[in-house]
Amino acid sequence: MSKIKTITLSHEEAFLSGDAIENLKGLIQGDVLLPSDDEYNNARKIWNGMIDKCPALIVRCTGPADVIDAVKFAREHNLLVAVRGGGHNVTGNALCDDGMVIDLSRMKGIHVDPKSCTARAQAGVTLGELDHETQVFGLAVPSGIVTTTGIAGLTLGGGFGYLSRKYGLTIDNLISVDLVTAEGEFLKASKTENEDLFWGLCGGGGNFGIVTSFEYKLQKIGPQVLGGMLLHPMEVAPEFLRFYRDFIADTPDELTVVPLLRLAPPAPFLPKVVHGKPVVGILVLYTGSSIEEGESLIAPLRQYGTPLIDGIGPKPFRALQSFLDVSARPGLNYYVKSEFLPALNDDIIDTLVEHASRITSPLSVIAGFHLGGAVSRIDEDSTAYSHRNASYSLILNTAWIDPNESDKHIKWTRAFWDALQPFSVGGAYVNFQSYDEGEDRVKTTYGTAKLERLSKLKRKFDPQNFFRLNRNIKP
Ligand SMILES: Cc1cc2nc3c(=O)[nH]c(=O)nc-3n(C[C@H](O)[C@H](O)[C@H](O)COP(=O)(O)OP(=O)(O)OC[C@H]3O[C@@H](n4cnc5c(N)ncnc54)[C@H](O)[C@@H]3O)c2cc1C
Repeated sequence: MSKIKTITLSHEEAFLSGDAIENLKGLIQGDVLLPSDDEYNNARKIWNGMIDKCPALIVRCTGPADVIDAVKFAREHNLLVAVRGGGHNVTGNALCDDGMVIDLSRMKGIHVDPKSCTARAQAGVTLGELDHETQVFGLAVPSGIVTTTGIAGLTLGGGFGYLSRKYGLTIDNLISVDLVTAEGEFLKASKTENEDLFWGLCGGGGNFGIVTSFEYKLQKIGPQVLGGMLLHPMEVAPEFLRFYRDFIADTPDELTVVPLLRLAPPAPFLPKVVHGKPVVGILVLYTGSSIEEGESLIAPLRQYGTPLIDGIGPKPFRALQSFLDVSARPGLNYYVKSEFLPALNDDIIDTLVEHASRITSPLSVIAGFHLGGAVSRIDEDSTAYSHRNASYSLILNTAWIDPNESDKHIKWTRAFWDALQPFSVGGAYVNFQSYDEGEDRVKTTYGTAKLERLSKLKRKFDPQNFFRLNRNIKP
C-alpha cells in the first residue's frame, strides 16, 4: 500500500506510510476506510449537506477497544482528529479534511434495565433507537425531538426536548459515562468518580475525551401520551402568540408547548390552499397522570379561533418523537442560529412574526424549545450547561436544496437572529451553533467563570488540545 497525505494537529501536511496503515488495520475490529474504498464517500456524509470534507482516513469503531487504538495511533502520528457520533451537528465538526475521523456511528449497543429504570447506550445510538428499546417498557430518556439525532453530541451539549420541563435536560438524567481520554486511557466518570470531568462533560461538548457509552436514568412515559400539532394562518400569529403566552404563563411542568413558525408543507392533512403559506403553530406534549386531564388543561388553546388543522390527540410517545423527522431530512443544506429567550413579550412576538413572515425557504422552521420547569430548578453551577433561566431556546433552522441559494437563506437567518439580540437572556446553546460562529460565542456559551473552570479541566485531561474539532475550550 502506498503512503497517504494527512494533516497534523497544527495543520501541517504529513504522510502516513502504507505500513502504518496496515498496522492500524490489524488493530481495528471495525473498518479503516481510505478515499480509495467503495464505502468511503458514503461514510463521509453527515446530516448537513453543506459539509463536504474529505478525511484521510475514517476509523469506524465497533467498541471502546477500537476507540483506544485509534486515539493511540492518532497520537503517535500527531494526526488531526474529528469525532463522529450521530453526525447531526450542523457545524460539521464530526468530519475534517485530511485528518482522521474516529467514527462511533456503528456502536449501537443498548441495554435497558426496566427494574432499576436505567439504560446504557453506546455512542453511535440515535434518539429513535434509544426510544425504541426503552418505550417497550413505558420508559424514556428525556432527549431531543428528532429521532435521527445522535445521543452523543446531544447529551454532551445538554440535551432538551418535550420532556425537559418535567424531567430536566438529558444531562440531568445522566448517571455515568465511559470515556477514552486524549492519552488513550479508559475512564469512568459520574457524580462520584472523576466528578470534575463529569461536571465538564455535562454541557462542555466533546472537549474532554471520547465517550463510548452513556448510562441514563429512565423516566416513566406513556407509551400513550397526549400530543400533536395545531396550526393557524400567519395572519393571526400576533394575537395567537399573545394568547399562547398568557396561557402558558403558569402551566404545570407536565405540559410542554413548543411554538413554531414556517411555511405550510404540502402535507395531505393540510388544505391545499395553505400549502406554501406562512403559518404559526404549536407542538404539544402532555405527560400528566391522565389523557383526560391533559385534554381539559389544553382545551383553551384548542378552542382559540379556527385552526387550519388540530392534530392533537392521544398517540404513542414515539409517534410524537418522530413527528418532526420529515422537517429535518438528512443531506439538505442547513444553517442554524439560536438564542436563549425569556418568556415571550409583545416585542419578541412582533419580531418573530415580522421576520417569520419573510421566511425564504419552505423547508425552514422556527421553533421555540419550551424550557423552564425542572430545567430551571437545577442549580446553575451543577453542570457546565448554562443559562437554565431561559424560558425558550429559539432555533432558526434554515434549510434549502439549491446550493446557489445559500446566501439568500443565510442572510435571512442572520438578520432574524440580529433582531432577537436585544431580547436574549444571554448565553448560547453549544449544540445549536453554526460553522461561522467564533471563539466569542464559546465565551458567551459558558460565561467567564465557567469557561475558566472548563479550561482548567481541559488542561488536566487534554493539555495539547487533541480534541479540538468542537466548540473548542482552549487548555
Ligand atoms: C435535526 C436535528 C434536530 C435536533 N434536535 C435537538 C433537540 O431536540 N434537542 C437538542 O438539545 N438538540 C437538538 N439538536 C442538536 C444536537 O443536539 C446536536 O447537533 C448534537 O451535536 C448532535 O449530536 P451527534 O452525535 O448527532 O452529532 P455529531 O456531529 O456526530 O457530533 C457533535 C459534536 O460532538 C462531538 N462528539 C460526538 N460524539 C462524541 C463522543 N462520543 N464523545 C465525544 N465527543 C463526541 C463531535 O466531535 C462534535 O463536535 C438537533 C440537531 C439536528 C440536526
